[in-house]
Amino acid sequence: MTFSFPRHNAYLYCLPDHPLKRDSNTFRFLSIKKVSKFPRFEIGDTVFLIYRKNKQAKPGIIGHCTITGELTKTSKIPVEDRVYCYDKCLLQLPVGNVRCGFEKNIMDEDLLYSLPCMNEIYGRYRVFSEFRIINTYSLLNNVIGDFNEFWYIWWSNRGDKEVQQYKELFVHEQREILEYEDYLGLSNGITKCSNCGIEHREFTPYTPRFFEFHEKGVNPIGKYQKRNFKNFVPLCPNCHKVAHEKIVSDSYNYKFIRYNGFSLTHLHSSWKSKHFDTQDL
Ligand SMILES: [Zn+2]
Ligand SMILES: [Zn+2]
Repeated sequence: MTFSFPRHNAYLYCLPDHPLKRDSNTFRFLSIKKVSKFPRFEIGDTVFLIYRKNKQAKPGIIGHCTITGELTKTSKIPVEDRVYCYDKCLLQLPVGNVRCGFEKNIMDEDLLYSLPCMNEIYGRYRVFSEFRIINTYSLLNNVIGDFNEFWYIWWSNRGDKEVQQYKELFVHEQREILEYEDYLGLSNGITKCSNCGIEHREFTPYTPRFFEFHEKGVNPIGKYQKRNFKNFVPLCPNCHKVAHEKIVSDSYNYKFIRYNGFSLTHLHSSWKSKHFDTQDL
């Protein structure tokens, strides 16, 4: 019996125009500039949509859609459907199930591009120019999944400082995700938490990881700094949690303020463009 992992690629595409300017049912193709490394698009894969000209929000991922067919030339599309192509000179990727918003991004571009996985694994992942698409494999699905664990911060009306601190914590935690070999190298010979001194000697490669490695200092968002493992200190899980609490100190200063004003309708799955006529997209 063979076993294979399901493929769930996530692509990143830079939109030339905001989808909310058109009706949702006309969002059928992404026009794509030729890519040197031709991605093998699979039906069902997710495309995260970056929009950089939004006046309501910073450049960032505003939504996502699903691939519904094979990349094709415009001439192969029925004439009546070609009006749905952004640019008829390019290749067209059939898509559907678009969801997008305009007030808040799913993730700001500066935050996304601060992450190690977008800079280290296969080189740098960037889509700055319109009609470009790149395959991020499963990276983007994982990152956005992690990011949504702090949904109660992103989608409620918290102070700017607290939101900023949580962004720093998110980047910090992403930087501390260690490959197995890196963990083995760092934990070799380590027997004590560098904060409380609790001892642990039983580590072998086949037991769960005991120590965690905490990066000293906070990295500015928007500029990726290569990780230097010399700045990583071993902590027990308890001390590591306390260290992370300090990064989001504003949450403790304002712990009696309720989390409210959640806006869970920020992503629209269907719309009529006229509802957004007055918005500055
Ligand atoms: Zn400790
Ligand atoms: Zn840490």
